Amino acid sequence: MAQETIFSKIIRQEIPATLLYQDELVTAFPDIAPKAKVHILIVPNKQIATANDIQTEDEVVIGRMYRVAKQLAKEQGIDESGYRLIMNCNEHGGQEVYHIHLHLVGGEPLGPMLTVK
Ligand code: AMP
Repeated sequence: MAQETIFSKIIRQEIPATLLYQDELVTAFPDIAPKAKVHILIVPNKQIATANDIQTEDEVVIGRMYRVAKQLAKEQGIDESGYRLIMNCNEHGGQEVYHIHLHLVGGEPLGPMLTVK
């Protein structure tokens, strides 16, 4: 298994973080360096290092991540204005923490999807 990250400590509440949601499969908390007015991370409680490591057995937890994301979007009042759900993978994707997470970002216009080209 990949090296544990800080997210596992947050999930176990071993370090302080405001948990916005937690159940037996997923946990959500604010991003420490928000890129938009709303920026929340939704993570599986079990460590999955990258999108490449998602297995068939993980389909339920991945589905739960999206279901919780839309619930949090509604709670934050951004479901109608819109938002973006992002999962970065590996170096070119800009992944910094090797425990998969959905970024829920919104609360203001987010601009073009990518600025590579
Ligand atoms: P990524 O680049 O997709 O791996 O995103 C990692 C995200 O985790 C970044 O947006 C960081 O700001 C965020 N992050 C790193 N450490 C923490 C932390 N202790 N609590 C909350 N968010 C964090």
